[in-house]
Amino acid sequence: MALKLDGRQLAAEIEERLQAAVERCSKSAGRPPGLAVLRVGDDPASGVYVANKEKACSRIGIASYGAHLPASSTQEQVLDTINSLNADERVDGILLQLPLPAHLDEGPLIAAIDPDKDADGLHTFNLGRLLKGELGPRSCTPAGVMALLRRHALPLEGRRAVVVGRSILVGQPMALMLQAANATVTVAHSRTRELERVTREAEVLVVAAGRPRMIGAEHLSPGAVVVDVGIHRLPLPPDAPEGAKAKLCGDVRAEEIEELVSALSPVPGGVGPMTVAMLLVNTVVAWCHRHGLDHGLDDLVV
Ligand code: NDP
Repeated sequence: MALKLDGRQLAAEIEERLQAAVERCSKSAGRPPGLAVLRVGDDPASGVYVANKEKACSRIGIASYGAHLPASSTQEQVLDTINSLNADERVDGILLQLPLPAHLDEGPLIAAIDPDKDADGLHTFNLGRLLKGELGPRSCTPAGVMALLRRHALPLEGRRAVVVGRSILVGQPMALMLQAANATVTVAHSRTRELERVTREAEVLVVAAGRPRMIGAEHLSPGAVVVDVGIHRLPLPPDAPEGAKAKLCGDVRAEEIEELVSALSPVPGGVGPMTVAMLLVNTVVAWCHRHGLDHGLDDLVV
């Protein structure tokens, strides 16, 4: 049976450490850390994600300065809000919740966030810092994957790692982080030929293709470590009772590979909770930096 890479458990441990850091440093800082989640419009899934992030903030003592703008907001109005959060001394982290309404252009808006307040680690400047191995806020999902691998002492140095997916949000920074950990990394994408041959080479496989249940036993070699980043809501059966909750699945057919692989992250409860935990880490680390305080979280800052 594969080792379960339990993100829920690790995220809870990280939250405890963050809570302790917030308690320890609040007096010297003179204020709690602050995170501003900026939401535009009424995408229902975003509403749930934002509520979860704000709940996590309150658990560990981060103040939330969320702003919710109407779907009809112009690019200038969103930009103005970002600029005022950049200038707000109480705010250490800013997160622009995606997706935005279709008439808005996310690139210039993310670029307008102060890179040192970039809680999601998606600013061009911070992706450059990652590329060059300089410290800075890291993209939360791949940083969460790295924390999960390290927590279970799964070796990366010299290992063959394959990342399926090359998005700026997940695949690209994931590949850079694995490479920084001295893995030999291959990145596969939708134009990759003979994907199965490529993924069978993997000792560590990270799947972030956004394709429900696409990876199965035919893609894997025995003993591989598999991290499933994908998350999808399965459609409810037509006879589902009212109020029934949709089941979630990942990019991996977990039940098919459990006996084959050495470690596997579950969906839900794997990478998802780690993404939120790393958002909190980025915020607390930025707060400590602004006040010249030691955060004691070096092992989480990849
Ligand atoms: P994107 O759609 O932006 O990127 C998907 C990537 O996968 C692209 O690079 C694409 O290739 C590649 N791809 C698509 N189909 C195939 C295929 N058949 N074979 C090989 N590669 C393929 O998605 P994201 O990176 O934003 O997210 C990926 C998944 O991770 C989604 O399910 C998303 O919901 C989930 N996610 C989960 C998070 C969490 O916290 N658990 C956080 C963020 C994302 P190409 O570049 O050629 O188009």
